[in-house]
Amino acid sequence: MKKSAKICLILFVAVVLAAAATLVFLFPPVVETGYEEKVDALSFMENTRETAVPQTEIYNLISDHFNSALPEGKTEKKAIVIGYDGCRADTFTLLDSEHKSAVKTLLADGGNAVFSYCGGVNMPEKNTQDTSTAPGWCSMLTGKWAETHGVYKNYQPKEIEPKTLLISLIEDGKIDSSAFYVSWAGHFSKPKATYINELNYIEENNINSVFLRAENDDGTKANVLADINKADCSDFIFLTLEYTDHNGHATGFSLDNPNYTNGFYSADETGLEFIEAIKSRKTYENEDWLILITTDHGGIRRNHGGPSVQERTTFIVSNKEIAQ
Ligand SMILES: [Zn+2]
Repeated sequence: MKKSAKICLILFVAVVLAAAATLVFLFPPVVETGYEEKVDALSFMENTRETAVPQTEIYNLISDHFNSALPEGKTEKKAIVIGYDGCRADTFTLLDSEHKSAVKTLLADGGNAVFSYCGGVNMPEKNTQDTSTAPGWCSMLTGKWAETHGVYKNYQPKEIEPKTLLISLIEDGKIDSSAFYVSWAGHFSKPKATYINELNYIEENNINSVFLRAENDDGTKANVLADINKADCSDFIFLTLEYTDHNGHATGFSLDNPNYTNGFYSADETGLEFIEAIKSRKTYENEDWLILITTDHGGIRRNHGGPSVQERTTFIVSNKEIAQ
């Protein structure tokens, strides 16, 4: 190489390095700080991240509810799972705001909140299934991890077995009807959707379960409220709201992002509308309701699926005590 060419190369490298350094100085990469401190300071949680319950506990809570005897004065059992998709646990630091809140309402009604985890195993071990939508909700609905239900990631259809509570509670004679309200197409509205086989099974066997997809959260909200407002509403209602997940993917899963925190407020206000509709039922006094709020996974930057604490920490809030 000629001497002049060498000098040119050195100058070029120097300019590139200087430009890179300037960019990092002007636009530092977003580094998450303080997540653990914020979450660990939540005084109303009944456990810690270290003693978090598996998200499959949702299955047990619902099964136990329908298997236990009716309390005195009650004639019918009902349950609802209000899912906030992609809702990080640190959103609970927003509960002291003026916003109407389903979570605050359940706690004020004598309920409990616990940390849970997704991904198949708690930290510090590496997750064994994606911290994503399909594996998360499927683990709650079947009470099993992916090694049993086979849903390690999105668009990996579950076989009929193990059946979700939406079907098994009906087949076991515990309830008469169930309903599954969503807007995400990956649940049962595409050829490789998670519950596409289960949807076929329901139709072939005349199971009294409704799987209904709306265009968006407004549609899901209308579908859920229409069900709750029926005199003979579904005995078990399972629904997911996409406000937090949608805004997280669009602009970032972070409390520093007002678009994300607004997603949480929208979900938590909508959840409260469902609870108020339940309490307004004419037959509410005779009904024994289990009301659960949970999430399938958290998120970091604009995504989820991985092993970070922000993605793997979830929560369960119940209107009843959650035994530890
Ligand atoms: Zn999700």
